[in-house]
Amino acid sequence: MTNLPTLSNDDRNEEVPRQRNPLNAPGPFYVEANFCLACCLPEGEAPDLLGFEGDLDNPRFGCFFKKQPETPEELDRAFSAMHSNCIDTLRYGGEDAAILRRLQKLGLEDQCDHPLP
Ligand code: SF4
Repeated sequence: MTNLPTLSNDDRNEEVPRQRNPLNAPGPFYVEANFCLACCLPEGEAPDLLGFEGDLDNPRFGCFFKKQPETPEELDRAFSAMHSNCIDTLRYGGEDAAILRRLQKLGLEDQCDHPLP
């Protein structure tokens, strides 16, 4: 039987720790698991950084960071991808103040796991 995604951001319980899609490359940028609505927008913004598992029967279904951004250009593309996603599943879990400040300026502070120090 096909496991259609059924959760939306409104279903999110903020008390429950966020679960990362296990396909994410290790690092601070990640995509949350179990919320994918197959918008497929982030991969268009940063095809070098994001991949997509399209098998609905795969519990890893959804997009994921296949590579962590490292260069300034890659960071810009990661921010664009974070801006494009429909339900805030692309997230920054790091604590780098410069990155947090830029995300805040872009209005993406809700997609950060940690507040600005
Ligand atoms: S941003 Fe969210 S809805 Fe869009 S492809 Fe990625 S996980 Fe799915």
